[in-house]
Formats: sequence, structure tokens, C-alpha cells
Amino acid sequence: MIKAKYPTDKFQNIRTPFYYYDLDVLRKTLNEIKVLKLPENYVVHYALKANVNPALLAIIKDAELGADCVSGGEIQAAVNAGFPASKIVFAGVGKADWEINLALEHDIFCFNVESTAELEVINELATAKNKKARIALRVNPDVATSTHKYISTGSAEDKFGINREELGNAIDLLPTLKNIELIGLHFHIGSQITDMTDYHNLCVRIHEVQNFFSKRDIHVKHINVGGGLGVNYGHPNHFPIPEFETYFKTFRDHLPLRPEQILHFELGRSIVAQCGSLISRVLYVKEGTSKNFVILDAGMTELIRPALYDAYHRIENLTSDKETEIYDVVGPICESSDVFAKNFELNKTKRGDIFAIRTAGAYGETMASQYNCRQLPKSVTSDELK
Ligand SMILES: *Cc1c(COP(=O)(O)O)cnc(C)c1O
Repeated sequence: MIKAKYPTDKFQNIRTPFYYYDLDVLRKTLNEIKVLKLPENYVVHYALKANVNPALLAIIKDAELGADCVSGGEIQAAVNAGFPASKIVFAGVGKADWEINLALEHDIFCFNVESTAELEVINELATAKNKKARIALRVNPDVATSTHKYISTGSAEDKFGINREELGNAIDLLPTLKNIELIGLHFHIGSQITDMTDYHNLCVRIHEVQNFFSKRDIHVKHINVGGGLGVNYGHPNHFPIPEFETYFKTFRDHLPLRPEQILHFELGRSIVAQCGSLISRVLYVKEGTSKNFVILDAGMTELIRPALYDAYHRIENLTSDKETEIYDVVGPICESSDVFAKNFELNKTKRGDIFAIRTAGAYGETMASQYNCRQLPKSVTSDELK
């Protein structure tokens, strides 16, 4: 069994469970994007909702990515981390007034607007502040994706974006809204997308939507294609870096831009997933009638993805190299769905062993909860352990 190298001896002295971030993996991931030498009119943003750990944000900001936020709290986190407001975009289907006001006060680059009602509210709040809000219309592209239904966002049945019928109303409304400036079109089809056909389809739709706008003599400078590029949960040791090259090439090959247009990307998972692991200790190995259970001190409160999306995470026993056995790996939380993996092959395990749950850097720590009066997980970085 090939395992990643961890400072396991140092883990022994740290109270589990905790998130461990290998910052060298993060730096390498960001560098892989840099060496692609993307066209100058390509701008990559980081979607903060994947992970807002300040140690990670500092490195991502230094790599000069912009910030994609979906709440007032995330705007604040981006500002605190030093992302310039001129690189912050704000999406979300339900923006509260205080969140819109916060974004206006910081004079962020762009609101990604999801309904005509929201257009009117932003205009009203911007008028009160005597400001002009730059906006992009988030168009529901009605592109089906092959990803899990809970993380698909771009089909007509999803709650996100403005659908085709409403788009005309939004266009009619815009000239009456004096404190709003339309600068772009925004799309986002979902997450953990590994089939580039989905992005190819998106490109085709964007082209159609652009033509729809051109016919009405509306020309926007910015096209934002959202995020969603997937990572390899099955084999993080073999494929630690996402398929950035093929991803960006898909847009270069299939999305014709108008002169002077700028293309924006909002990547979350693909930037941070592989640098993070949830480190946990084995509390008990319990022999059931038909199977053996490994009971960890981490559960769905630290990493909810398996319980929420039936997500697969690779699990490694860092302190055993004995022959392998089959286990169900579960957490201590009082919910039957608190299961990390069923029938999973692991090196023979005993109480006190240390486990790494891999590819947990995205939608792990940010989704943690205090259910069962548990403490939110702490984090440790590789730099701190050097
Ligand atoms: C969640 C989200 C992203 C990032 O998605 P990933 O799958 O993590 O890359 C980008 N844009 C918007 C609007 C989002 O909601």
C-alpha cells in the first residue's frame, strides 16, 4: 500500500482530531497553475467556501488569486487575509442586506446577481450609499453535469442563477436601475467535475448566451465560468495535482472571447483539497458479528462529506504496516450516517493507531459543526512542524 509521508511521530503529541495541511502541496498546486502561463486575460479566483484557514488564505493571496465569496463572513475573511477588494466577487442566491452593504462599503469588484429581485435590492442599497455597484448576471446555463445531485448547480431544476425566461426581464429592468452597472455574465455548473465534456457544453451555452445579449446590443467585458474542477479522491498519492492543463485548455479551445474580454475562473476544491488531511486516533476496534469496526475520535462533525454526499475519502493507517484487513470506519457521533467508509481495506488496526483521512482540504474544516457539544477542529500546518 503506497502511503504519503507524514510527520507521524510529531502527530503523537498533538491532540486529535485535527486538520493537517501540507503547505508544500498547496504551493505546488498553485505553481502548477502559474507555470501554465495562462493568457493575460484569464483571471483565477479562489472560492473561499472550500477552506478559509488563514494559513492557506495567506499563501493563496500571495499567489495573486482573486477571492470568490458567497457570504458577508467570507468577504470579511478575504479582506482580513489581504485580498484586494478589487479582486473580490460576491455570489450567492440569498444575499442579506447587511452582506450587500458590507460589499458596497468595501467597493468589491463585482456582485454575481441571481434574480431580478436581487437587482432591485442592490440598486436600492447602492443608491442609499451613493455608490454604483458593478454586477454580473448569474445565468443558469441549464447544463446537466455528471456530478452528485447535491453539488450540481447549473441545471434548470437547481435554485441557482437566472433562468432563460427571466433573463429578458432582467435585461429590461437594467436601464431603470441607475446605481447598477452590468459588467459581466456569470456561470457555475457544479462541483467535483472531472468530465471535461461538461465544461465543453458550458462553453457552447456561454457562446449562445453571449449572442443573445449581443442581439440586444449588450456587450459585457467579463465572463465568469465559475469553478468546479474535480480532484482525485481515489488516488491522492498518485494524482496530487488536478488536471489544470486540460481544464484551461477546454476553455481556450471552445470559448471564443470578444476583443478585450476577460475570462474569470472560481476554483475552490481543486486548489485546496489535496493539501489537507483529517488526522484522527483510533478509539476502539470493535468486532461485530459480520464485520469489524474501527471507531475514530473524528466524526461527521469534523468531516461531513461522507455523511452528506456519500463522498469517498481515502483512509490510511499511518502507524501500522501489518497485513491488511477489511473494516468499517466510523465516527463517535450519535448518528447512523456517521460513517467514513464501509468495507475498507486497511493495515491491521489497534486502539491508539493514527489515521489520515485524505483529500480533506476542501469542504472539510469549513463545514465542521459542534453537534454533540464537540469542539471545532484545530489545524496544524507542515510549516509549523518543520
Ligand atoms: C462553490 C462555488 C465555486 C467553487 O466550486 P469548487 O467546486 O470548489 O471549485 C465557484 N463559484 C461559485 C459561485 C460557487 O458557489
